Amino acid sequence: MTEHAVVIAGGGPTGLMLAGELALAGVDVAVVERRPDQELSGARALGISSRTIEVLDQRGIADRFLSAGQIAQVTGFAVTRLDISDFPTRHNYGLALRQKHIERILATWVTELKVPILYGRDITGFVQHDTGVDVALADGRSLRSQYLVGCDGGRSLVRKTAGIDFPGWDPTTSNILAEVEMTEKPPYGVHRSPAGTYAFGRSEYEIKGSEITYKDVGPIGVMVTEPNTRASTEPTLRDLKELLIAACGTDYGVHSPTWISRFTDMTRQAAQYRRGRVLLAGDAAHVHSPIGGLGLNTGVQDAVNLGWKLAQVIKGTSPDSLLDTYHAERHPVGARVLKTTMAQVALHREDDRTLAVRGIVGDLLKMEEPRKRIAAEMSGLDIHYDLGKGHPLLGRRMPDLDLVAATGPLRVSTLLRDARPVLLNLGEPGSLDIAAWADRVQLVDAKCVGTWELPALGVVTAPTAVLIRPDGHVAWVGDTARFGLVDALTTWFGSPAAT
Ligand SMILES: Cc1cc2nc3c(=O)[nH]c(=O)nc-3n(C[C@H](O)[C@H](O)[C@H](O)COP(=O)(O)OP(=O)(O)OC[C@H]3O[C@@H](n4cnc5c(N)ncnc54)[C@H](O)[C@@H]3O)c2cc1C
Repeated sequence: MTEHAVVIAGGGPTGLMLAGELALAGVDVAVVERRPDQELSGARALGISSRTIEVLDQRGIADRFLSAGQIAQVTGFAVTRLDISDFPTRHNYGLALRQKHIERILATWVTELKVPILYGRDITGFVQHDTGVDVALADGRSLRSQYLVGCDGGRSLVRKTAGIDFPGWDPTTSNILAEVEMTEKPPYGVHRSPAGTYAFGRSEYEIKGSEITYKDVGPIGVMVTEPNTRASTEPTLRDLKELLIAACGTDYGVHSPTWISRFTDMTRQAAQYRRGRVLLAGDAAHVHSPIGGLGLNTGVQDAVNLGWKLAQVIKGTSPDSLLDTYHAERHPVGARVLKTTMAQVALHREDDRTLAVRGIVGDLLKMEEPRKRIAAEMSGLDIHYDLGKGHPLLGRRMPDLDLVAATGPLRVSTLLRDARPVLLNLGEPGSLDIAAWADRVQLVDAKCVGTWELPALGVVTAPTAVLIRPDGHVAWVGDTARFGLVDALTTWFGSPAAT
């Protein structure tokens, strides 16, 4: 039986991100992936949000994604595009980049970090003991780990085997999605009719402003709403032809599909993100309609919340109870994602009453305050973990400000490259002493000249010190009194070392 500190079920975006986080922390981790390689058939996420780009920037890998995709104002709510170019972030945009490329880049990074990805292996079950988890594979082999993380998608075997409930809402809409050839040129773009939505595009495209221009080469992507939300068989070319004729009056000579798939707006969330030594992240913990494009982003951010906590527990610097903060922090974020997505699905309906509501929501979103509030939410920049009352930065993402340290100019994000916590002292150099945590927490004396501004909230008082967790969230904000620093260090990074 092969042993690893952590086994991750599933090498999709969530599992790969978590593997990278654990590897950076020096934890022995292996990913078990059913697919024979990283190839992804079928279209899934079309891009990543501003906060996900920030998170990748913290690890020094954002440029790999930015150079492969197209920067654009892709944030939106239902049918309304929301411009975030005035937001106080270095990445005041989203990135159009297909999931297959996101996964390819993440897998390359994880491989560089020497994480084994066991392709072509299927997890078929596991047994949890007091000291670990025995994971069974379809080929008869097994793995032993201290923790098992289910990043195995919406139909998660890990979630089901752990007996974790998945309450929520059954689908109200269903859509067939396919990559095909057509003998006639279809009308590119998204079209709405009382019967539903249909859309055509090409995999090669260019985004200029809010306009997408498709190149006239390569296969055609098609999406069409189907009336039956409870189909139990795999969709076929014949189904697609019939739906196209019903929606458009023609099937545009559709033929030669590369793949045909289906997605619905089924909306569910795991009741618990943790059961003992088993944790859930990404689609294994929450599923919802792809409208709004929040799924992959939420999964990657789950991974970044969980990775450093799991690493500290495995290294023995933090108690096992630190893992409970993963559920406490990420379950409310997931619940909110489900609600905002359901609201957007409802606004996509084409009946007269929905159109009336959609018009009013659109008018509201033209106003500054609502635009900023909803755009901050849809871009992931407003995430706030409840770490108690205090300075507005507490529990929020640390802005990536320019600093000047003894070594020269640097950005806050560069301090988080290795996924290690940072105590940033912006007051008198040498005025903070955290010798008892020096093995775990970096202490950096620096000056900050920038404005402390948070998305949607605006300018906040400049702190004299901040304790930043490896996920980039602020765990403690200091003023001249420094009250509470020892408690925050102990809560998040373990007891002081004996001196
Ligand atoms: C049409 C569509 C459009 C979307 N658009 C967006 C978007 O624009 N933005 C966005 O953020 N999200 C979008 N999403 C959602 C996004 O694709 C998912 O949220 C994302 O893939 C979740 O990542 P994951 O790693 O959690 O799960 P998955 O990507 O599902 O990965 C799970 C992995 O686990 C493997 N696996 C499963 N079971 C086992 C097992 N027993 N043993 C071993 N391996 C196993 C699978 O092979 C898979 O590779 C879209 C989804 C769809 C369907």
